[in-house]
Amino acid sequence: MRIAVIGGGVNGISSAVQILEYLKSTGSPADVTVLSEAFSPNTTGDGSAGLWGPFLLSGTPTARVHRWSKHMHDFLAQIWLSEDAGEAGVCLLPCLGLTTTNMDTDVFWKDIVYGCRRLTQKQLDQLNVGRAKKYTEGIHYITYTSEPAKLLPYLMKRFQANGGKIVQQKITNLEEFITNSEYEVIINCTGLGSRECVKDNGMFPIRGQVSRVKANWLYYAFMDESDDGNYIIPNYESVVLGGTHQKNDYNTKVCPNDKAFIVNGCRDMLPSLENAQHLSDWVGLRPGRDALRLEAEKGGKKIIIHNYGHGGAGVTLAWGCAKEVLELLKHELEARNFVKSKL
Ligand SMILES: Cc1cc2nc3c(=O)[nH]c(=O)nc-3n(C[C@H](O)[C@H](O)[C@H](O)COP(=O)(O)OP(=O)(O)OC[C@H]3O[C@@H](n4cnc5c(N)ncnc54)[C@H](O)[C@@H]3O)c2cc1C
Repeated sequence: MRIAVIGGGVNGISSAVQILEYLKSTGSPADVTVLSEAFSPNTTGDGSAGLWGPFLLSGTPTARVHRWSKHMHDFLAQIWLSEDAGEAGVCLLPCLGLTTTNMDTDVFWKDIVYGCRRLTQKQLDQLNVGRAKKYTEGIHYITYTSEPAKLLPYLMKRFQANGGKIVQQKITNLEEFITNSEYEVIINCTGLGSRECVKDNGMFPIRGQVSRVKANWLYYAFMDESDDGNYIIPNYESVVLGGTHQKNDYNTKVCPNDKAFIVNGCRDMLPSLENAQHLSDWVGLRPGRDALRLEAEKGGKKIIIHNYGHGGAGVTLAWGCAKEVLELLKHELEARNFVKSKL
């Protein structure tokens, strides 16, 4: 059976790894190819900090988000405890989520992260000393970062070591590709690209601009969750300063006004950043959708599974969504009377 995964971002590669590793574990013939217009370091995730956290997911049902993001958290915990942690760029990080407005401190994912608790007024008062902005609510927890600039090469290496193939190719029309190609199973993980290749007009960009600085003294994530808030997320070798979330904005150029908002806002949050060496600026377009699409197409001879529209949480959900892609694939094969042992 020939399987094509379209899209070399964090969701495509995670799906490809899980399908291939499953096939190998059952001793079945494994022929899995990832076809993509771009690969790391040129995917949407590559500039992101890869902080675990459900964010900008519109109407995607909470129960699904909880399930997918828990699987990713468990996967990251496993990697963090393994010899692969450094190569995969998985770090354990304490986080402060703060707001100057109202915030739901009873977050639905509090049981997934470690030690999640609401800040007391006394703790907020301590944090507010010497700050122009006064925080009114906040939570503290510990979770992982898995910066895709490291996680993606690690996963691609894992995929290729098992015989997975990588092909650089743009699919302009998925329907034509399904009809004309020899692949029997096609997994669509093209993110925002689904707007063109699947003609899904529900897809829209959520533009994100960030800066990276060198600030090796920082081991804490600070996130101002107010609507116009900034965030500071340490990665392995640099610290990400954010950020914007501009809906329907396709501009992939660095905007000086956004940069000023990011750098000044983060310095207000943490004055020690004044002396941090500026490394780079980056813009990415998050794949926005009213709700994430993870489903198998009904009917048809071939098996088609869609996995796109991960908004601002594509890294957070990747392993969980890939697990569900694999479950759907197994289910479709059984429903179509493919011999179980063949898979
Ligand atoms: C500034 C910023 C910060 C972020 N921070 C975080 C964070 O801390 N944590 C988090 O969880 N998420 C974060 N995100 C969101 C996350 O990066 C995305 O949700 C995630 O990268 C989406 O992954 P994906 O694989 O679905 O899509 P993409 O990464 O966009 O990958 C899509 C792939 O499909 C390929 N493709 C597209 N169209 C075609 C086509 N027609 N034919 C062939 N190939 C095609 C592309 O080349 C690409 O390889 C952030 C995003 C931004 C912009």
